[in-house]
Amino acid sequence: MTEAFDFIVIGGGTAGCVFAARLSENPHHSVLLLEAGPRSSSLWTKIPAGYFKTVFDPKIGWGYATEPEPNLAGRAIPWPRGKLLGGTGAINEMVYVRGQPNDFDEWARQANTGWGYDDVLPYCRKSERNTVLNTPSHGATGPLTVAAYPDTHPLCEAFLAAAVKTGIPRNPDYNGADQFGARYYQITVKNGLRADTLAAFLGQALQRSNLSLRCAATVTRIVIEGTRAVAVQYRQNGRDHRIKVNAEVVFAAGAVN
Ligand SMILES: Cc1cc2nc3c(=O)[nH]c(=O)nc-3n(C[C@H](O)[C@H](O)[C@H](O)COP(=O)(O)OP(=O)(O)OC[C@H]3O[C@@H](n4cnc5c(N)ncnc54)[C@H](O)[C@@H]3O)c2cc1C
Repeated sequence: MTEAFDFIVIGGGTAGCVFAARLSENPHHSVLLLEAGPRSSSLWTKIPAGYFKTVFDPKIGWGYATEPEPNLAGRAIPWPRGKLLGGTGAINEMVYVRGQPNDFDEWARQANTGWGYDDVLPYCRKSERNTVLNTPSHGATGPLTVAAYPDTHPLCEAFLAAAVKTGIPRNPDYNGADQFGARYYQITVKNGLRADTLAAFLGQALQRSNLSLRCAATVTRIVIEGTRAVAVQYRQNGRDHRIKVNAEVVFAAGAVN
């Protein structure tokens, strides 16, 4: 075990791409990003409508499903998770939804210091380049493009009008003070292409000499000595590798893994 990095990020998905990019902004940090899946060059992961082709593609997904559900006539329900650089963010539906402010505040109230809405809002703003909404809730200069849904449609308009008729207000911004209401989606799409965190954050960062990326590299173990994570073990092309970590291991392998 000779190789060592300051930070090892496990999982090159939505979160991992951001961690690797932000940590390597400091040229004194050496950062390694390990991703179990491939780096896809398929256009289907870039074209928004390609989602219909990629979401169940076994070459870039973990292929998970629930146990057969007795209350669903024994059916097993597919549970897609991306297994490629970009992670589930490279196969998802690109809708930008931050979460309800009082959910964050409730987490903070339950002793999760730093997770209140006022705590996380500066980070949301920092990451966001909103092309339409110019309010204190939104950022305009970050790397992640958030755009308005490009088309209106008579059926969508009728649906929204029906919502209003039943007492659900038309909400000008469900990522603002309150999610309640009906509105077209805000989407992470730039120039007609998927603007996931791979494109928005990692793409540029990969040019830095202090950031290394290994794909098709499945982490099998975090080596703990006492109370410290000191190394990470991964398997690539049938061979096991062990890499020392000087500072921290960032575990961003997704909620399921
Ligand atoms: C069909 C679908 C549609 C969705 N639509 C939306 C939407 O419109 N808007 C929205 O906000 N959210 C949406 N989501 C949810 C969103 O995509 C996920 O919440 C988000 O991508 C999770 O990010 P993550 O970083 O936690 O995990 P992931 O993006 O899944 O990243 C985890 C990464 O870790 C890798 N990994 C796992 N295990 C290992 C290992 N042992 N070694 C190395 N690497 C490993 C995986 O291959 C993966 O690349 C959708 C999800 C799905 C499935």
